[in-house]
Amino acid sequence: MSSFKALLFDLDNTLLDFLSFKIETAKAAAKEMVRNGLPCTELAAYGKIFSVYEEKGIEYQKTFHDVIVPFGLDANASERIQQAAILAYLKKKFEILRPYTSVRSTLIRLHTRYSLGIVTDAPRNKAWQRLILSGLEREFDFVITHDDTLNKKPHPSPFTLALSKLECLPSSVLFVGDNLERDILGAKNSGMVTCWAKYGSNRKAKHDSISPDFEIEKFEDLLKIVQF
Ligand SMILES: [Mg+2]
Repeated sequence: MSSFKALLFDLDNTLLDFLSFKIETAKAAAKEMVRNGLPCTELAAYGKIFSVYEEKGIEYQKTFHDVIVPFGLDANASERIQQAAILAYLKKKFEILRPYTSVRSTLIRLHTRYSLGIVTDAPRNKAWQRLILSGLEREFDFVITHDDTLNKKPHPSPFTLALSKLECLPSSVLFVGDNLERDILGAKNSGMVTCWAKYGSNRKAKHDSISPDFEIEKFEDLLKIVQF
């Protein structure tokens, strides 16, 4: 058994395959937008959705609106296309938002020995929607979202808030996340031990200046790290 007292997790692309979710929902929305009269190809609509995500952030709430406006359509045509996109997005979301393989069973085992928490930059409402849809809403002692500190990782405040809830030394906490700059650097700066969820990262190699203490290729490899 390890000396860890608690494990903290990033949510998107660490517990949930968020990138696939965003790709599949964008495809579904693009298809319905074109079918409802957006004058471009599905591929172009898909590209425009991701351009908005890149410009305004992946959590931006008016993406489809921003895609439609430049076409200069009348109000009813625009609304029809926007609502079709929103409904297609939601339908796909309910259908496909799931954790990575073995996440739930691994968390259940870990929870018998360790405190478990989430530190996510997602808004509170979206974080809970994603946890409930993926069946993970009961597996954590606490969930810290962007609404709790109004700062995003690697800012120290979400990490400090998590430590205050755990009441244990940072060195006895393992932080697991896919993003080297936000999760790993932020947790390291707060004195935690870090584990890079390599499977959720689009990077193939480690960052020269950010070296996690551990890295995992699949979620259940965590059990080896904590010597379960
Ligand atoms: Mg992430």
